[in-house]
Amino acid sequence: MPRVRSPAEALDALRALPCGAGALDAFRAAGGVHLVGGAVRDLLLERVPREIDLVVEGDVDTAAARLGGTITAHGRFGTATVETADGCRYDLVRARRETYLRPGALPEVEPASLAEDLRRRDVTVNAMALRFDGGLEGVEGALEDLAAGVLRVLHDRSFVDDPTRLWRVARYAARLGFAVEPRTRALAAAADPSTVSGDRLGTELRLALREPDPPAALRAARDLNPRLLPSGFDPDPPRLAEALALLPPGGRRDLVTLAAATAGVDTRALLEWLDAMGFSAADRGLVAAASRFSTGAPLRAARTPAQIARAARGAPVEAVALAGGENARRWLEDLRHVRLEITGDDLLAAGVPQGPEVGERLRRALDRKLDGEISGRDAELAAALE
Ligand code: ATP
Repeated sequence: MPRVRSPAEALDALRALPCGAGALDAFRAAGGVHLVGGAVRDLLLERVPREIDLVVEGDVDTAAARLGGTITAHGRFGTATVETADGCRYDLVRARRETYLRPGALPEVEPASLAEDLRRRDVTVNAMALRFDGGLEGVEGALEDLAAGVLRVLHDRSFVDDPTRLWRVARYAARLGFAVEPRTRALAAAADPSTVSGDRLGTELRLALREPDPPAALRAARDLNPRLLPSGFDPDPPRLAEALALLPPGGRRDLVTLAAATAGVDTRALLEWLDAMGFSAADRGLVAAASRFSTGAPLRAARTPAQIARAARGAPVEAVALAGGENARRWLEDLRHVRLEITGDDLLAAGVPQGPEVGERLRRALDRKLDGEISGRDAELAAALE
């Protein structure tokens, strides 16, 4: 059971955050502006909020101006982002009511009271507002659910109105270690994710892949509603830990995770699914290449550095990491950085005609260097001209 701070302790914790004091100072005397959503949940749970979300009963622009930064207003929805000179960012939203005209559609929005604003939210533990005078307002049962570590939607149509909430609940379950209460679980299982666009589901999936424990989020999603993921998807792929350990800095951990999890998905189905989920062509290609372990078998069979290079060269580091094994480690840590001292210009100067032959000769020389047969510029040039 998580320990839950009192509202006064939560405000103290807010003040101690780099950007918390700015919000407190701007709004303590103003009234009508409150901390809301995940920030309240996290402060009460003794966690550090990822962002500072504010709900405004009244005019958003007037409230935003009190923070004294650059305001970006987001038009008709009554939301604004403020970025201050000291690098703080605040998201403000006009307290609102939301009406879903059909399942999965974006809601109709109109100004409403704070209480109504809280009722349009996803789960009880996210439906609380912390007043800057220390008061706490929440939907019924919110604090009890927080203390019990429970995720509960606010009404039976929640996942029908907005199936992206399935992913949200999965992420919170994984990140907070909260249990999904039985009624919410039954509603999630009955929901139809296909009423929202693949792009929106993909956005949620991409957030799940960037959670601290992505497999836990993927597992939670599959358990809530298997239709969120393609058939053959394995949220806990056995090769993932080794692949992530091998992945060089800057490598795409999210895509390695996805590639490992989709290794058992039929290739055509995988490409169609990645496309539907709105992945860029580059990311789609990378996931598909890595999940097919395109370099796996030859790489494992390689016996010499040059053979390793021939198997791994040109493949994304994510694919090589996922192929795994000692040869993958050698390639990623060492061999892929080996370079010749000569360049194509040296070969052209020596009379090799422009064209693919230049690259082939350089590769041959590099392979011999990798295998330790040659060293130094002259030997490289001689090997390339052989
Ligand atoms: P995180 O810690 O992941 O940033 P968060 O709870 O702050 O989580 P946001 O996506 O920043 O999540 O949204 C802020 C708040 O807005 C949520 O806490 C929730 O109250 C509400 N919210 C966001 N998206 C939805 C949604 N699809 N349906 C209902 N409420 C939502």
